[in-house]
Amino acid sequence: MNRLETIATPYYMCEESLLKRNLEILDYIQKQSGAKIILALKGFAMWSTFDLVKKYLKGCTASGLHEALLAREEFAKDSKILEVHTYSPAYKDEDIDEIARISDHIVFNSPAQLFRYCDRVKEINPTVSLSLRINPEQSSSPKDIYNPCGLYSRLGTTLENFDESVLEHIDGLNFHALCEQDADALEDVLVAFEEKFSKYFKNLKYINFGGGHHITKKGYDIEKLIAIIKEFKAKYGVTIYLEPGEAVGWETGVLVSTVLDIVHNRMDIAILDTSAEAHMPDTLAMPYRAMVRESGEAGEKKYTYRFGGNTCLAGDIMGDYSFDKPLEVGDKVIFEDQIHYTFVKNTTFNGIKLPSLVIKREDGALDLIKEFGYQNYRNRLS
Ligand SMILES: *Cc1c(COP(=O)(O)O)cnc(C)c1O
Repeated sequence: MNRLETIATPYYMCEESLLKRNLEILDYIQKQSGAKIILALKGFAMWSTFDLVKKYLKGCTASGLHEALLAREEFAKDSKILEVHTYSPAYKDEDIDEIARISDHIVFNSPAQLFRYCDRVKEINPTVSLSLRINPEQSSSPKDIYNPCGLYSRLGTTLENFDESVLEHIDGLNFHALCEQDADALEDVLVAFEEKFSKYFKNLKYINFGGGHHITKKGYDIEKLIAIIKEFKAKYGVTIYLEPGEAVGWETGVLVSTVLDIVHNRMDIAILDTSAEAHMPDTLAMPYRAMVRESGEAGEKKYTYRFGGNTCLAGDIMGDYSFDKPLEVGDKVIFEDQIHYTFVKNTTFNGIKLPSLVIKREDGALDLIKEFGYQNYRNRLS
């Protein structure tokens, strides 16, 4: 298959060459700084690309049993080198044995969870490394919904709740305090983190700086990040991990949809065969306006349309866009940068079809790797 016109919309198309570009940037940071970078599956879990991803990254970070299984099966299968790190805000008795078997690192959210499970997981997997996620209580995250250090956050242990008797069980400490942020923001977090917790670093092997580093975005100060990591490593003699999700999938592909109808209610409104609610959830949660190829802001070009999804949710709206030529039914609408935090969050709300998954290979060939249908909707219900 090599012609876009032959693939039915909606579909996400991830471009291997763009993914490779991001991975090369991340690998440059690994090589220059000595840090290890692992993929946060929460943000990007297109496992058909993992043969490429694992040429560069050192493993995955999973947010619970299912992501850990995917990391083990599709990324780190039979590998002694690639690592599976598992963190969950709280583990369950029925999951913990399997998590212990398939994880190289287990990160606990609270001292209570650590004490509840540390003996059990060590018994099952004597080589597993344990860590505690702490909350440095310093973040300049742009939105409360994405701020793990916000008021009353449940994510990570604050200094006040730190229990020194965890130290005999752990090899590392984790924090995750950023969201789409630059190296300056990391620097600010590290000031707070060191001030509060450096007294506990003495016997630690690693510190995990979490995700939210907007490394592959144009203008990110990569050299500054490298300098920060090198300085921290030299000062404390620990391995540094970064676990980005978004930075791996950032600007690696698109969501392609089709105009199904154009209606008029004080303005022109195009109904697309996709959905902001079901297929581009962060555009509503953040919220932000996704870029559409060859479009301008409302009123900027001659013909302005509001784009709405093919669901019955009134607010299922992508935004207002303008074009040089009038849109017609059947036209393709291409949303930019829709690979991270999209299909990992998709729902079958309203019974709407899940978008297919397409990979554009480096030689330009298109592989339709997955199509979804009625069964995916039906099988989630009963
Ligand atoms: C979400 C998350 C990440 C990845 O964050 P990005 O913003 O996608 O880089 C890493 N670590 C933890 C603990 C997370 O919750």
